Formats: sequence, C-alpha cells, structure tokens
Amino acid sequence: MEKRAELYAGKAKSVYLTDDPDLLILEFRDDTSAFDGEKMEKLARKGTVNNYFNVFIMGKLAEAGIPVHVEKLLLDNQVLVKKLDMMPVECVVRNIAAGSICRRLGVEEGLDLNPPTYELFLKNDALHDPMINESHVETFGWAKPEHLVRMKELTFQVNDVLKKLFADAGMLLVDYKLEFGLFHGDVVLGDEFSPDGCRLWDAASREKLDKDRFRQGLGGVVEAYEEVARRLGMKLPE
Ligand code: ADP
Ligand code: UDP
Repeated sequence: MEKRAELYAGKAKSVYLTDDPDLLILEFRDDTSAFDGEKMEKLARKGTVNNYFNVFIMGKLAEAGIPVHVEKLLLDNQVLVKKLDMMPVECVVRNIAAGSICRRLGVEEGLDLNPPTYELFLKNDALHDPMINESHVETFGWAKPEHLVRMKELTFQVNDVLKKLFADAGMLLVDYKLEFGLFHGDVVLGDEFSPDGCRLWDAASREKLDKDRFRQGLGGVVEAYEEVARRLGMKLPE
C-alpha cells in the first residue's frame, strides 16, 4: 500500500492518505499528551506498543462481531485502516469511578459504578472536550440520531468483550473512550484502543497500568503498557 500525503497530524498519531481512497495509514508516534496538550513528552517505544496493542484489541472486537476500522498491521508504528468520516463525539463508559467523574460529581476514585455510566464528550481541544448530551449531538448535527443509538450499542458491546478479556488477565477495565466514524454509511469503530485512552488497574493491588501514570507523573508509563500487553499474551517486537 503506497503511503501518500499527510492528511492530519494529531497529538499522538499522524494520518496519511494512500492510493486507495477507502484506506488510510495511521502512524503511532511516541508523543504523549495530557490535559488537552498542556503536558507533552516523547516516550520511547510508546508508538510501537500502542500500535500493536490497538491491532490486538481491535482484532478481538472484530472476532466478537464489532465493526472496526483496522485492516492490517503495516510496520511497527503503522496500521492500515478504513478511511472513516469521523463523528466529533467521544463515547466513554465507566465501570469504576476515576478521573473527571470524580472531579465533576465529587465521588471517590474506586467506587464501583453499577450499572456502568455512559457519557458523551465533544472532541474539541480548544473547548477542552466539554461533556455533551444526545440532544446537543442532534441539535448541532454532530451525529444522526440513528448513528448515536448504534454508537451506544457498540460502546457497551465493547465493554462486554473487554471487561472479560482484561479480567481474565488479572486487570480491571475502569473506563475507556471510543471514537466512531461512518464507512459507506455504516457506523464503524475508529481511532485506537490502547492504555492511552482507557484506565486499567491491577485487579489485586489496583496499581494503575495506563496513561494516568503519565498524567500523575508516576513514571514507568511504557513499562506498564508493556506489562498489560504481556499479560494479554501479546507478542511485541524487540
Ligand atoms: P487528536 O486528534 O485527538 O490529537 P490523534 O493524534 O490520535 O488524536 O489523531 C488521530 C486522528 O485521526 C484523530 O482526529 C481521529 O479522530 C482520526 N482518525 C482515527 N481513525 C480514523 C479513521 N479510520 N479514519 C479517519 N480518521 C481517523
Ligand atoms: N479519554 C481519552 N481522551 C480524551 C478524554 C478522555 O482517551 O480526550 C479517556 C481517558 O483516558 C479515560 C476516559 O476517557 O480512560 C475517561 O476520561 P475522563 O473523562 O475521566 O477524563 P480525564 O480525567 O482522563 O481527562
């Protein structure tokens, strides 16, 4: 697959056109950001680890019948994906309270959320990704009502698959963010699933194994991501 012009450079990935109008190449960089890009660092190997992680997880989701954009791993830090018309909405499920829900609602980190919560955020760094609801999405045309219904259904299907996958490997899936797009009219899971966009805790000690290590300056960020990958039985390049 021929890599063509760069379409977009995000905070952690670069997006390239290819000679097939239906396909893109995502390049996972080592850049790591938090707090809407206020804290930025390069963490060696993070791009490769997240690329492998994402291909592995999206493969599991595809096996479970969830439509995903990943086509195939190209290089250590590159993956071929379907070119989606992305909806600027982040879908977040929480099984355990952490992060912004604690700040917003004054609940204690670690509280079990039963049933899990479902929240929507507008993907807009300048506005600090504000929380929105389904009525906003419809009024401002960020997604069609039927696509919103499908996004919610798929986001909870992902929870069923991944809660078990991580539990079987001794981890708790605390929360995660998904982004969807349209491919020839169908809602498809895009972007990435990696420890950059979810929270994972060791089930016994509740040690954090995700991007909170970077946000909170705990160190050992990529080492923790590699530990999660190892527990899942993934093979990473040397
Ligand atoms: P950000 O835009 O938040 O800085 P990234 O650095 O991860 O994030 O950039 C990747 C960009 O590519 C995001 O804007 C994401 O919505 C977009 N994207 C992810 N998957 C696809 C896809 N399959 N088709 C089109 N765009 C995609
Ligand atoms: N998240 C993300 N990108 C964002 C915002 C959130 O990947 O722009 C993920 C985050 O890693 C966590 C979940 O979504 O797994 C919920 O994030 P939260 O609302 O708690 O925000 P935070 O406090 O992490 O900024």
